[in-house]
Amino acid sequence: MIKKSFIGLVKPRLQYNLIPDQIRDLPVPSKVILLLKEPENGGRASALKVGDAVKTGQRLSAAPDSDEYVISSVTGTISAMAPHVGTLGQRYTAITIDAGSQDEWDDSFNKTPTLDTGLKFFEYAPGSPSFKAFADPENTLRTIVIAGMDQDLLLTANQCVVQNEAAGIKSGIDALKQMTGADRILIAVPENLVQQANTTGAEVKVVRATYPNSLPHMIMKDVIGRVVSAGDTVEDEGVFFINAEAVAALGTAFETGRLCVTKVVTVAGKDGSTTNVRARIGTPIKDVLQACNVSLNDRDRLILGGPMRGAATYSEDLGLEPDTDGIVVQDDADSAQTTDYPCINCGECIRICPVKIPVNMLVRFLEARLYEDAAAMYDLHCCIECGLCSYVCVSRIPIFQYIKLGKYELSLIETAEAANE
Ligand code: SF4
Ligand code: SF4
Repeated sequence: MIKKSFIGLVKPRLQYNLIPDQIRDLPVPSKVILLLKEPENGGRASALKVGDAVKTGQRLSAAPDSDEYVISSVTGTISAMAPHVGTLGQRYTAITIDAGSQDEWDDSFNKTPTLDTGLKFFEYAPGSPSFKAFADPENTLRTIVIAGMDQDLLLTANQCVVQNEAAGIKSGIDALKQMTGADRILIAVPENLVQQANTTGAEVKVVRATYPNSLPHMIMKDVIGRVVSAGDTVEDEGVFFINAEAVAALGTAFETGRLCVTKVVTVAGKDGSTTNVRARIGTPIKDVLQACNVSLNDRDRLILGGPMRGAATYSEDLGLEPDTDGIVVQDDADSAQTTDYPCINCGECIRICPVKIPVNMLVRFLEARLYEDAAAMYDLHCCIECGLCSYVCVSRIPIFQYIKLGKYELSLIETAEAANE
């Protein structure tokens, strides 16, 4: 799957996994853990408490007027609420719900496909589509790209959905058009899924199966023919990206009146073999691993997401998030170790970077926590987060992690400055 070049003479060619496994449905777990973002102005989830009964599909928010919410994926009782800190320091309330034996469905979901419905019920759908981009008056989003190819190596969750749920995607597209007013809908798929993609009614575009061609900025350049300017987002260019799984979830919800509370995830074991399962959102990771016969020993690496862009996590007690497309377990002996060795200016990272960032200089500023200078002088905001620089770095500097942290810290600074204006 991953072929590395010989001493950097040739760029490594990393191929996506094009053979989606069939999806296996997992039973309803005995409990789910849902992470509710803390509101920006602070404060815990005061509208919820331990002992509250909840229904499947019920919207749970911190306060009646809060934008942040989760959707309960089971019927049961809240048994714990605890603070949780994310990989980059984001603050959440971890809500544990003990599941009952039967689903009782909440009926507050409004089946009218409007933007308000998208904002109120689908931000926590599988794939975590963010409809906030459509509510921003500065954006004029006329084009939607459905990502029918997964964004990381090994993963095939979205390809599976295109292969098996093209009819659901077709219904989802009808709903999307009504919700957003977008007039051009494309679906980006690998060559082997063109036939299924053709039945969705979207304009079909083929993505080459070499990493990182499925990332939004690469699709913008190679498929749509537009380069996103430095510091801009794809939304600034009038294009909205959404995963195939999210579109199928929309289609199913508007047809049945029930929100989708499951997530398809690719589980990759230590031998590189993969399994696709569909589980309730919030299912503990350890339950998913157990169902796939993947063992996790001390010092093994547990990654949420794919091997290039995922984040290592310390606990298998966390729940499956709506945007968790992959769970990868690497044996301690096979895991790439990071170091605090200095950069030796070998230039490998610059040669591999698809947007030609001077990564060797960028990383020096990030290591020194000079985030604003890193953005102003060394193109931090141009990074499309492919992780290739970390993959080739001979000093094994965790460049990708520094980049993610740098962008996150800058976003906090920008939010604080906006609040003070
Ligand atoms: S992650 Fe590294 S290689 Fe990829 S775009 Fe960013 S700086 Fe370039
Ligand atoms: S950051 Fe790593 S890959 Fe890039 S120049 Fe320095 S040592 Fe080489």
